[in-house]
Amino acid sequence: MSEDCFICNKHQGSIDTAGIKIYENDFVYVGHIDRGGGPSYLGHIMIDLKRHAASLGDMTPDEAGAFGQIMARVSKAVKETQGAEHIYALVSGNSVPHLHMHIVPRYPKTPAEYWGPNEVYDWPNAPFGMNEEIVKVCEQVKRFLEEDSYVSS
Ligand SMILES: [Zn+2]
Repeated sequence: MSEDCFICNKHQGSIDTAGIKIYENDFVYVGHIDRGGGPSYLGHIMIDLKRHAASLGDMTPDEAGAFGQIMARVSKAVKETQGAEHIYALVSGNSVPHLHMHIVPRYPKTPAEYWGPNEVYDWPNAPFGMNEEIVKVCEQVKRFLEEDSYVSS
């Protein structure tokens, strides 16, 4: 835990972010992206490593196992509950040195010039929403994860 890290503070519950917690275990934390109170691209989910470590290569085998499994499950949940036709996954780390993966849905009818994890944001018909809608998305994804019969190995 690093005291001046946005993600560590979010896990501790010491700052409010958009939506609700979708999932948490010993290794990973899942929630919706927060854009500082502004409208968010609906279904843009963040998977964080619980431990304060910067990149994919820093994960222990247990962390990597948990991260890979939740990546698969969240991708399926967003696709099924939000009607996404494709899921982009991206680790950037430009702003916060604490490992987090962006899970970004591409919705049906998105024109090809807007295909990509950043590009989908620029489509004029992209679905953006404020907290109330973000909470709804979180609840749908959360419920799917709870009911999906994914069996971990
Ligand atoms: Zn951190």
